[in-house]
Amino acid sequence: MRVILFVLIAIHLLIIACNAPKSAFRNGKKPAEIQKPDWAAKNYGYKSARNSYSDLLHTKLEVSFDWAKKQMFGKAYLSFKPYFYPQDSLVLDAKGFDIKAVQLINTKAINTELRYTYDNKKLNIKLNKKYTSCDTFHIFIEYVAKPEELKTSGGEAITSDKGLFFIVPDSANPTKPYQIWTQGETESSSCWFPTTDSPNEKCTQEMYITVDEKYKTLSNGEFIYSHKNADQTRTEYWKQALPHATYLFMMAIGEFAVVHDKWNKIPVDYYVEPSHEKYARHIFGLTPEMIGFFSAKLKYKYPWAKYSSVIVRDYVSGAMENTSATVFMDGLQKTDRELLDENYENIIAHELFHHWFGDLVTAESWAHLPLNESFATYAEFMWEEYKRGKMAADYARLNDLQSYLREAESKREPLIRFNNKSPDDMFDSHSYAKGGCVLSMLRNVVGDTAFYQSLALYLKTNEFKSAEIHHLRFAFEEVTGQDLNWFFDQWFMQPGHPDIVVLDSYTDGKLKITVYQNQDSLYAPIFKLPVKLEIYTDSAKITKHITVNKAKQQFEFEVNKKPELVLFDPEHILVSNTNHKKTRKEYITQYEKSDTYFAKYQALDEMGVYIDSASVRASCIKALDQPFWKLREIALDNLEKYKGKDTSEILTRISLMAQNDKNTTVRANAVSFLGKKARPAFEKIYEMGLKDSSYAVVGASILSYLKLKPANADSTLKIFDSETNSEIVSAISEYYSTHYDSTKYEWFANKIKAIKPESLFFLVQDFGTFLLKSNANLQQQGATILLPLAEKSPFEWVRYSAYKSLIIVGLKSKEQNLKRIKEGERSERLRRLYKNL
Ligand SMILES: [Zn+2]
Repeated sequence: MRVILFVLIAIHLLIIACNAPKSAFRNGKKPAEIQKPDWAAKNYGYKSARNSYSDLLHTKLEVSFDWAKKQMFGKAYLSFKPYFYPQDSLVLDAKGFDIKAVQLINTKAINTELRYTYDNKKLNIKLNKKYTSCDTFHIFIEYVAKPEELKTSGGEAITSDKGLFFIVPDSANPTKPYQIWTQGETESSSCWFPTTDSPNEKCTQEMYITVDEKYKTLSNGEFIYSHKNADQTRTEYWKQALPHATYLFMMAIGEFAVVHDKWNKIPVDYYVEPSHEKYARHIFGLTPEMIGFFSAKLKYKYPWAKYSSVIVRDYVSGAMENTSATVFMDGLQKTDRELLDENYENIIAHELFHHWFGDLVTAESWAHLPLNESFATYAEFMWEEYKRGKMAADYARLNDLQSYLREAESKREPLIRFNNKSPDDMFDSHSYAKGGCVLSMLRNVVGDTAFYQSLALYLKTNEFKSAEIHHLRFAFEEVTGQDLNWFFDQWFMQPGHPDIVVLDSYTDGKLKITVYQNQDSLYAPIFKLPVKLEIYTDSAKITKHITVNKAKQQFEFEVNKKPELVLFDPEHILVSNTNHKKTRKEYITQYEKSDTYFAKYQALDEMGVYIDSASVRASCIKALDQPFWKLREIALDNLEKYKGKDTSEILTRISLMAQNDKNTTVRANAVSFLGKKARPAFEKIYEMGLKDSSYAVVGASILSYLKLKPANADSTLKIFDSETNSEIVSAISEYYSTHYDSTKYEWFANKIKAIKPESLFFLVQDFGTFLLKSNANLQQQGATILLPLAEKSPFEWVRYSAYKSLIIVGLKSKEQNLKRIKEGERSERLRRLYKNL
C-alpha cells in the first residue's frame, strides 16, 4: 500500500508539537523528576500473530451486485485442512453479512446443513465431526455483504475500512462513473467474503463475477473466460492458481478502457477511464521495464500470472498491491501534458515491488509490516538509481529521512511493533520512510552484492509463506557469514535514532575527530554505526572507515597538513540527526569537491546565508549548471536571497533557465524568480511561458505576467477559464484571493466542483481568503459550499481546509455548525487539530 504522503506531510507540518528531543545523555538512569517525553514508545499490549487451527486452502467466490442498495450477493466455497490439532468447529471472519446458508459440501450426496452462530463479525460453525490434519473439508456459505451498514472507521493511511465500495454519481459529482472496487488491507476482506482475515493465511482463489454487460471486471490471477448470460449480464471468471494472503484479494468493476502491454509473455494491462485511454501508456508504460529490472535485481522472476494496474475513483489511500491487480488513486489519471510536471513512477515501482515483498513473502502479522512497506519504499530508491542515477535516488531517500525525523518529533516506535495500538497505526513514516532508509543502510553495511543475494535467499526460502523480521536476518547471516543481530536489534527492534554531534580539530600532524551520540539513552540505544569519513587536503581525498559505538568517542588520524575539509558520512547514509558545523570556506570546498548529493546539497543550502559574499554568489551561479535539478533549484533559492545590486549576470542566467531548463519545476521556479519584481525586460519570457508545454511553467508565468501587466488580467485569465489542472487553477485562485473582485465568486464555486480532490486543499483555502474580503451575503453563499466539504468529503485534507475557511467566514448558527463538524469528525488527527483552532 502506498499512502498519500504529500498530504500527510502537508498536514503533519501543522501538528508538530513542541516535543523537541531531550539531548542530555543520562547514563541509563532515570532521575525521578524527568518526565517521559511524549514521543517515547508506547505499549498498547502485545499483539501476537493469529494462531492457526484450520488452514484455508482455497476460496471460490460467485458474486453479483445490487447497485441501488450497494450490496453484494455472494456464494463462497471454502476448503480447509486442520493445521495440526483435530478440529470439530471453524471460526471465520465475516463482517456485517446476512447469512443465508452454511453447509458442508459433500462430494457425492447433497450438502449437509451445519449449525452456526453469528455475531455480525465472527461466524462460528459447528462441523459434523472431528477432522484431523489428514482430512480436507469443504464449506459452502451463501450470504449478502452490506458494506454501507457496517459501523466503519478509518485510519490516517487507509481512510475507510468497509472493504467493498460502490461508486455512483451524486449531486456533488453527477458525472462520476459507476464503479465497484475493494480494499482488503488491513482486515477488510471479510467485509465482502467469509475468510480468515489475517496476513498469515494464504490460499488459492477463483472468482466468478456477474455484472451488466457494459462493465469490465478485474480480479487476481489469470482471466479464464467471459460468459454471456440470458439477462444482459456477463459472468467473468478469474483464477489465482498460486496461494496469496486474503487481504490481497480484489475486484474492480467499471466502464474501463483497457490498454494491453506485455513483459516477456506475461500480460501487463492498464485499466483507466475511457477519457484517458490514449494516455494510459504514458502513465503506466514503464511497468514492463520495472518488472524486468526488479526480477533481475532480485534474481527471482516475477512470479504471478499477469500484472494489471487499475485507476479508480474516490480511492481510500494512494495505491494497493493486490496480487497481480494493483489499484491506484485517480490522482494518477493524468494527460501527457500533466505528466510533464509530475509522474507517479515511485508509486508504480512501490506497488510492483510488493509483488515480491508483501505478496510472495508476507509479513506474518501487522507488527512486521516493515517487511512489506520498508522494502516497497526502498524499491522507489532502487528505481530512481537505475533510471536517473545515484543523486536522484539519494534525493528520494533523504526526503524520506526528513519525513521520518519530522514524525520522530511526536513519536518514536521500534520498526517491529508488537505493541501497536491498531494495525492501521503501522502505516506511518516509521514503517515506510525510516524502514526504507534502514534498508539502504543495511545495503551499505553488507555491500551491494551481499545485499541482493540475501534478498534472493529470503524470497526463495519464504516464498508463498509469511515471515518475521528474523527470517530476513537469517538470510543475511547465511549469505554474509556475519552475526547481524546488532544491526537488526538496534534498527528494527528498538526505537529512535542517533543524535550525532561531530567536532574536528588539527594539531601537530594529527586530525582529531570527536563524535558524540546525544540521544536520550533511556529511550534509544547507543548505536553501533559504521561510518565513512572523507578528509580533503589541497592535493588529495583520503577515505577512512570508522565504527562509532560509544556516547563519546575520539578518532585520530595522521595527516601531514591541515585538512581543508572533513566530511563525516558524506552520503548521510545514517538514519540520524547529524550536526557537524563548518565554516563558510569549508562549505565552499564541500560544494566544489564533494561528489555526493547530500554533501553538495548541504553545502549549497548552508551557503545561502552568505549570499552577499561575491565568491559564494559565484559558486551559486556556477551551480545553476548542475546536472541534477534539485541542486539547480537550491542555487536558485540562494540567489533569491541576494538583495544587492550586482544582479545582471544572475538575471541573465536565470532568464535563460526560465526558457530552457529541461526540468519543469526549475523552469517554473526561474519564471517565478524573475516575476518577484515587475521587470519589463522579461515580458516576452512570461508571454512565452503562458504557452509553455508545462502547466507548472504556465502557472508561474500567469502570476509573473500579471504582476507586470495587471490591466491585462481579464483577457489573460479568460484563456484558462476551462482549465482544471491544479497548477493553473492554484495560480488563478492565488491571484483572485489577493486581487479581490466580487464577480469571481462563480469562478471559485465552479472550480471547486470541477477539479480533482488532491488539488482542493489550496483552492478551498484561497476561497476562504476570498470570502473574508466579501460582503455578508456572499459569505453566507460561500459557506453553503464549504459546509458539505467540511462535513462529508472523503478526503481528510479537504475537510480540514474547508473547516479552516468556515472559521473565518460569516455563517448562520456558526457555533452550532462548527461544533457539529468537530464532533462528527472521524479522523483522530483532525479532531486533535480542531482542538487548537
Ligand atoms: Zn506499500
